[in-house]
Amino acid sequence: MLERLLRVLGASILLTMLGIAQGHAADADLVIVNARIFDGVHEKLREDAAVVVVQQKIVAVVDSNAAPAARERIDAGGRVLVPGLIDAHVHPTISIAISQLRDADPNYLAARGATEGRNILLRGFTTIRDMGGPSFGLKQAIDEGLVEGPRIFPSGAIISQTSGHGDFRNRTAESRRFGGPTDALERMGYGRIADGPDEVLTAVREQLRQGATQIKLAAGGGISSMYDPIDSVQYVEEELRAAVRAAADFGTYVAVHAYTPAAIRRSVEAGVRSIEHAHLIDEATMKLIAERGVYLSPQAYVFSGVFAAGGAAAPAQPSAQSAKSAQVSVGLDRMMQLAKRYGVKVAFGTDVFGSPKVFPWESREFGARLRWFSSFEILKQATSTNGELLALSATRNPYAEGKLGVVEPGAWADFLLVEGNPLTDVRVLENPEQNLRLIVKNGRIVKRTL
Ligand SMILES: [Zn+2]
Repeated sequence: MLERLLRVLGASILLTMLGIAQGHAADADLVIVNARIFDGVHEKLREDAAVVVVQQKIVAVVDSNAAPAARERIDAGGRVLVPGLIDAHVHPTISIAISQLRDADPNYLAARGATEGRNILLRGFTTIRDMGGPSFGLKQAIDEGLVEGPRIFPSGAIISQTSGHGDFRNRTAESRRFGGPTDALERMGYGRIADGPDEVLTAVREQLRQGATQIKLAAGGGISSMYDPIDSVQYVEEELRAAVRAAADFGTYVAVHAYTPAAIRRSVEAGVRSIEHAHLIDEATMKLIAERGVYLSPQAYVFSGVFAAGGAAAPAQPSAQSAKSAQVSVGLDRMMQLAKRYGVKVAFGTDVFGSPKVFPWESREFGARLRWFSSFEILKQATSTNGELLALSATRNPYAEGKLGVVEPGAWADFLLVEGNPLTDVRVLENPEQNLRLIVKNGRIVKRTL
């Protein structure tokens, strides 16, 4: 109702109706005029437009000359304004190598996680979906304004079977079931090893209890884990169904880590809504994903061979993991082609973690996707498509009051002013320090260089 009125009447009239008179002390809080606006959905920019912010929300998008007075007025100088970016797969709290986490002081890890959170925001990502790691406290600190960072949709611990992708114990470690100890990484909230539907139910509910907005399960072999071959299928149907059911009972969904057709198919049949990675998918399974409206959450840059090549920027990794990475990377091109052919909903996620050197690669995902998608398509993935994916958290969405990934009345006031046009060359986003001239999150200016 409010949105429609704003659209029909124009912002200034409605603001007057709301008691926010023009030229008055109680004007809009922030107005950006003279911008070319990408709304997150449509390729055509709205020229010479203004975004009107009251408190933390966008209340109107109008022609510049119809913009109301505001406490703060910024002239965009004809630059392109885009919704705040969303990274659908990132791990700010896995800020150092997994193998080093168990020896690290928790306070150091908290500081590192907070630093990466701030850097993520300064790269223009105003919202992230954390796909595994103890980010509940970081989210709270950001929401309370203690530290600067993106909105976080936390998954909590990666739930994994014994010898699954979230089992980071020594090879000879004994299971808790047979009297073995709880692993340090389980205690710290990075992973939870759970076998059988009963333990999976408990593990899912543990994460929901802490505020998980979605659940992350490992459904197949992974690269950073040592003792699960890539081809291994993880979790039987009953365990996957148990997880999906426990998540659904809390109003949310399950995302799984999976590369192979067998792991993906079993997960989709069990009701999983988001497939992370999927690089070895085949045509039949891509068709299934398309039919079911399941999100594909792939990463291009970190799977483009940078790890396998062992380049200077790559963290030191045991060769077994480099070999696994190479095994998966070969599927990248085919997966993206199939996703395009079947019109699958493709999320934008980067999967950066594990080293301060790797996190800045988050921005390189934009250019890495140009091989398959246009700049507009990539930007849409990182904004409105990801916004729809996050909305699957439904009643567990902490930010359900406003939309994310779009610039429209009623959306959260998360947006960027960009130097250069990301719709014609999305690579301008790869240099955020220089090209992001304004970052606004939650109606507040985080960065301004104009
Ligand atoms: Zn990941």
